[in-house]
Amino acid sequence: MTVEEKAADGLIEGLCRAGFTAYRVGGAVRDRLLGYPAHDVDVATDAPPQAVRELFPNTYSVGESFGVIIVHTPEGVDVEVATFRKDSEYADGRHPKEVGFSDSATDARRRDFTINAFFYDPRRVVVLDYTGGMADLRGGVVRAVGEAEGRFREDHLRMLRAVRFAAALGFSLETETEAALRRQAAAIKRISSERVMQELTRMLTGCRPAYALRMLEEYGLLEAVLPEVAGLRGVEQPPQFHPEGDVWKHTLLMLEKMAMPDPVLAWSVLLHDIGKPLTHEYTDGRDRFPNHAPRGAEATGEILKRLKASSRWVEDTMAAVENHMNFMHVTQMRKSTLRRLLARPTFPLELELHRLDCAASHAKLDGYCYLLDKLAELADQPQLPPPLVNGHDLLAMGQKPGPKIGELLKWIEDLQLNGELEDREQALGRLRDFIEEEKASSGEGIDD
Ligand code: ATP
Ligand code: MG
Repeated sequence: MTVEEKAADGLIEGLCRAGFTAYRVGGAVRDRLLGYPAHDVDVATDAPPQAVRELFPNTYSVGESFGVIIVHTPEGVDVEVATFRKDSEYADGRHPKEVGFSDSATDARRRDFTINAFFYDPRRVVVLDYTGGMADLRGGVVRAVGEAEGRFREDHLRMLRAVRFAAALGFSLETETEAALRRQAAAIKRISSERVMQELTRMLTGCRPAYALRMLEEYGLLEAVLPEVAGLRGVEQPPQFHPEGDVWKHTLLMLEKMAMPDPVLAWSVLLHDIGKPLTHEYTDGRDRFPNHAPRGAEATGEILKRLKASSRWVEDTMAAVENHMNFMHVTQMRKSTLRRLLARPTFPLELELHRLDCAASHAKLDGYCYLLDKLAELADQPQLPPPLVNGHDLLAMGQKPGPKIGELLKWIEDLQLNGELEDREQALGRLRDFIEEEKASSGEGIDD
């Protein structure tokens, strides 16, 4: 038993001793029945919210009008305790207008899928299955509770949840549920970007993200929420670099090869070639995508901002998309360029993106291995050494303020990173020589 299950059972015990009925409910019961440890354990009860607050000393309310109280348990775990309820008509494609309290059988019928509508009574060690969820768990299907058409109409978010649960569990959608979802897919646009983003991110970072994407595409949800990604389908690429097929197939293959990605890596994988449809041309006998990385970074920014991603996610994902093509020629890179690449704050993310990009196409990992060697070689050095000279040194030598200062500093940094300068004295010497020569050839300063 997990600590969360233990904490929930403690609350159930307390509620029952006070004369109420209480069960573990929802996803935690589903996961247990499938043999997965349950971490997010919810409790459902016939006790009204007021009684829950009076029974337990440490509570706070998140949605008391929905009958939900959070109880902070002695185990240090927060458990959501919800009063059995009956939802009235739904108002806005997401929220019920009113909720009333009810019994467990009624509460089961307002839940989204049969596999999410179990109750578990830890005192009697029995599962209450009012909606046929056990047969669906055995059959590996996600089936709406009641009439699918109506259930998706009252809350459109359930369509994304259906796909997420199917992908996470390796299930398929039950026929009626699938047909209703296909018919209503376009309505997902009415759901707030934040909730859509949350669901998509959970799919991308969970088990079987490629399976989730394929389902989203097939049912028409992808076209509604991420039309740019749906547009990767059928964008052909040169078979010598991409024997796996078009940009869509390549992206799915990368998603399949990801292991426990964080959200930024997952979104970077999904969007890394988003610039290809925008830049595609067929010249000299093959498909080409000039500048698809910077164009893709711009499109990535637009997509993630539209989905209300945090600015950190937007910036890091854009950086990884923008830079991904620079990894293709690392073995020929000058030392200075390579050191700057390794010093990028997003380098670990970009390195993994590069590995997946190669693994899901030509499968050659020379560049990746070369970078690992370089990382090991430079492991005990600071990422970039402190600069040997600065702008004040140049001004002191009589260099006039202006863009030339930056160019000269970059030149000195290149020499330093390439191992051609030992110390500050040498750097100052090189600069002095350069400035003298410039003066001699033009008769004045070098800023014109
Ligand atoms: P997980 O936490 O692994 O995503 P879960 O099944 O616990 O899965 P939650 O979002 O935590 O999902 O919701 C808890 C339970 O509340 C669900 O199992 C389901 O019974 C019910 N539920 C959640 N969202 C909805 C919804 N939009 N419509 C109907 N019932 C829902
Ligand atoms: Mg949950």
